[in-house]
Amino acid sequence: MAAISYELIKTCQQSGARLGKIHTPHGSIDTPIFMPVGTLATVKTLSPNELKDMNAQIILSNTYHLWLRPGEDIISEAGGLHTFMNWDRPILTDSGGYQVFSLSKLRDIKEEGVHFRNHISGEKLFLSPEKAMQIQNALGPDIMMAFDECPPYPAGRDYMKASVERTSRWAERCLEAHQRPNEQALFGIVQGGEYEDLRKQSANDLISLDFPGYAVGGLSVGEPKDVMNRVLEFTTPLLPKDKPRYLMGVGSADSLIDGAIRGIDMFDCVLPTRIARNGTCMTTNGRLVVRNAKYARDFKPIDEHCDCYACRNYSRAYIRHLVKCNETFGFRLTSYHNLHFLLTLMQRVRKAILEDRLLDFREEFFEQYGFNKENAKNF
Ligand SMILES: [Zn+2]
Repeated sequence: MAAISYELIKTCQQSGARLGKIHTPHGSIDTPIFMPVGTLATVKTLSPNELKDMNAQIILSNTYHLWLRPGEDIISEAGGLHTFMNWDRPILTDSGGYQVFSLSKLRDIKEEGVHFRNHISGEKLFLSPEKAMQIQNALGPDIMMAFDECPPYPAGRDYMKASVERTSRWAERCLEAHQRPNEQALFGIVQGGEYEDLRKQSANDLISLDFPGYAVGGLSVGEPKDVMNRVLEFTTPLLPKDKPRYLMGVGSADSLIDGAIRGIDMFDCVLPTRIARNGTCMTTNGRLVVRNAKYARDFKPIDEHCDCYACRNYSRAYIRHLVKCNETFGFRLTSYHNLHFLLTLMQRVRKAILEDRLLDFREEFFEQYGFNKENAKNF
């Protein structure tokens, strides 16, 4: 029996977006969903209770980082990642591939895997499909990701074709090495950059291996927004309708809505928590940099339309003061608000799908956000 299943509840008549549920060993999640990122087995500055308060249903953690520190053996000995970090809802882990390709400058990609140097100590390391599966089997998340090659953007067609073919061979090795298919679902990752025929080749290769879910990888790596949307438009229709679809590394409000419209069910990104630690907040009226001097005597909440703990209890002036003084509580409040904002946004997206009005919702949301081409970066 498969570890997870996808239930399609409704397709939005106006946009084609999907409302669904993914049933996992640690409970069900409502899709489309945003997954907060807990890189080192913690969503930075927030406790599991706080994440539950804001209705986070699933979080993501990083194989590469947990492999290096504290090591998957310690987490396994603790009873797995859920027990180790005291989070009893679903967890997804990535494969480590993205970090190997993004953090390590010294790497050597071979058919058997990737040789590279630890980004902290400089020590020589080797990660392969088999090793990525062994680590994720030890960590014990509900959903784990296949080890793939993450090509740079832009990449030439020849490079991309070779990379797609290697990723397919690695995906097959991941399936063979996966020891706990009844308890943990392994997702394949469709690559191919902006090349439609290569996306098709990658999707076909992976679908023939019958994964319980599929991710679209290699996006949100610096390409223009319209390229991402175009790639999604020709990639998601290739994927099975009865399996979840996950767009990796996307966390800006506009991209979440546009991804859902193109049939994506799951998203993750460090963006909301990372910018929170710079004192930047996502609000219904666009981005608000609470560090700015103009908020020194502003006693309104970060977002007057938000009912999160930070907005119900604290002012821009107070949060600005804390952030300027590097007080942890300031970063906690901005992180809380930003995650609450995206999780609430996805709730509103799900409601709009249910009511067959996601395109109308998009228009209203973008209007209030002040979104246009000139300030697209203000998300
Ligand atoms: Zn708030």
